[in-house]
Amino acid sequence: MKRFIMLVCLVSLAVPAQAEGFITRLLNKPVPGGVAVVTLPEHTDAPRAQYREQPLLVIREDGQRWIAIAGIPLTAKAGTEHIELEGGNQIPFTISDRDYPEQHIKLQNQQHVTPDPEHLKRINRELEEQISAYKTFSARQPSNLMFDRPVNGPLSSAFGLRRFFNGEERNPHSGLDFASPTGTSIKAPAASQVILVGNYFFNGKTVFLDHGQGLISMFCHLSAIDVKVGDEITRGQHVGKVGATGRATGPHLHWNVSLNNTRVDPSIFIGAFVP
Ligand code: ZN
Repeated sequence: MKRFIMLVCLVSLAVPAQAEGFITRLLNKPVPGGVAVVTLPEHTDAPRAQYREQPLLVIREDGQRWIAIAGIPLTAKAGTEHIELEGGNQIPFTISDRDYPEQHIKLQNQQHVTPDPEHLKRINRELEEQISAYKTFSARQPSNLMFDRPVNGPLSSAFGLRRFFNGEERNPHSGLDFASPTGTSIKAPAASQVILVGNYFFNGKTVFLDHGQGLISMFCHLSAIDVKVGDEITRGQHVGKVGATGRATGPHLHWNVSLNNTRVDPSIFIGAFVP
């Protein structure tokens, strides 16, 4: 009898893995700078979940199960981490290693490598403004998690590259670059609200889009911004034009994707992730 019960338990544990849905297959890349998709216990309403004290995107997959979608920081180490549910339950998931190569870039403007104190004041002010945009957590449900590419054009610099400007190591590459000419139309990868626009020292002309529940897109180095804060944007709607403003060696689109205030690899969301 005992043996029979054990078999039944094993079978029921195996069910969630077999029933893994489209979103899980697309997004579950649990590496530093990647995304963990974690199945939550059955619950009538959307359970509230947190990771590293930030609220998480929670959706119903295939009308069957609640899943939490967590961005993993680039600084995370391989090993077991936990998602925390309201009420204190902890759900473990495993982070695997991923290697990120180095990239060496030559800049003409030395202020873009080692800014003077006056510029540093501006940079810090702008950083705070952008971090508070990344912390936005609206109730809206993302219209789609398989994103459309914001521009046509080949991928150039990958996410996570360890960057050296004129030989000095700086922050790793926080987004994905597309090699597109100046003036190329940038289109919203999903429905969104414009939550911040600015013209920043490093990022140049920049637009932040809130797709819902902490899922944020940021586009920078634009030549033109064609939306304003508060605008409701439909999937595929034009938001601005590619350029080379701020710290850029030439025209391209830099796209950040953030989840739970964590910058993650945008290639995951367009099905272009290479482990
Ligand atoms: Zn970039």
